[in-house]
Parts: sequence; C-alpha cells; structure tokens
Amino acid sequence: MKLLLHMCCAPCSVYPARVLQEEGVSFEGFFYNPNIHPRDEFIKRRENVEKFSLQKGIRVSYTDDFKQDVWENFKGSGDERCRMCYSLRLDRAAAFSKEHGFDAFTTTLLVSPYQKHDLIKELGGKFAERYGVGFYYRDFRPGFRQGQQEAKEMGLYRQRFCGCILSYNESKQRTGK
Ligand code: SF4
Repeated sequence: MKLLLHMCCAPCSVYPARVLQEEGVSFEGFFYNPNIHPRDEFIKRRENVEKFSLQKGIRVSYTDDFKQDVWENFKGSGDERCRMCYSLRLDRAAAFSKEHGFDAFTTTLLVSPYQKHDLIKELGGKFAERYGVGFYYRDFRPGFRQGQQEAKEMGLYRQRFCGCILSYNESKQRTGK
C-alpha cells in the first residue's frame, strides 16, 4: 500500500510517522493547511514540518494556500467551522492521493485528543469515497503524549492554539498572550 499522510503540524506528525515507519508502511507526507493563521504562524508550522520530515527522511509535498479571509468571514457555529476546516483539508488530501497514485490517505489530525475525532473519521471516509481512494483510519490518540514529548526533545515548535484566526483570538483572550 502506498499511503499519503496529511500532516497538520510537526508535533502531531511525530507519533503517526513513527508508527508507520516502524510498521514498514510506505508513505509520503502532504502539507495542506490553509487554516493556519496568522501568516507568521503558518510559516513557523510549515518550517517545523520541513525540519521534522528532513530529520526522519520523509518526503513531503507542500501546498502553500493561506485563507485567513475564509475563516474571518465564516458565519456558522464553532462546530460548523471545524467541519468546514476538516472538509477543506481532507478533500484536498483525497484529491491529491488520487492524482498522484496513492492507494489511501490518512491524517495526523487523528492523533490529537483536542480535535473532533469522530468527525474527522466521518469526513475522511466521505472524501475517500468521492475520489475513489481508501481512507486509512487509525486512532493514533494513545500516542499523543509520547509524540508531544518527542517533539519537545527534538526542539520542534509546539503551538498553543488549534490553527485558525478565531482559535488564535480565543487563545489570546484566554491566556492574555
Ligand atoms: S478550531 Fe481548529 S479545526 Fe476548528 S476551524 Fe479552527 S483550526 Fe480548524
């Protein structure tokens, strides 16, 4: 199986990449996260995915879309916003898999206990079906803490907020930083 690993950020990539490498799964990375705002945060997370991937010998394709206006103008609820956000990224990951001959795709979003896991699972399956590829579902959450610890030891940047400008503002309000 040739697998595409959608990578949302470096710390969340550590555990899934380790598991896949240890199990001998053939995979490549894919960075497509137009939800990361503001611009300097986007650059920082992208650079850290690059740093991590180079260290681990993972080939990654980067798509540098940046869509802050989409989130700023989004009028729906918090749940609807996350649905839109996951859909955008998983749709592109599924399409990229199809276009580049991957058998299936998965996402490092599945490692975080802070994400809406069941929704990601549902949407992954939906876009896989739409593009005629597989969705490699796996609950990576048991390795979240271990992955974060390894990311710390590797000196990778670990963010304080989920990604979009609204989560950035919420975090600033909460922590004052
Ligand atoms: S909170 Fe996270 S998952 Fe939800 S819209 Fe913002 S970046 Fe996307």
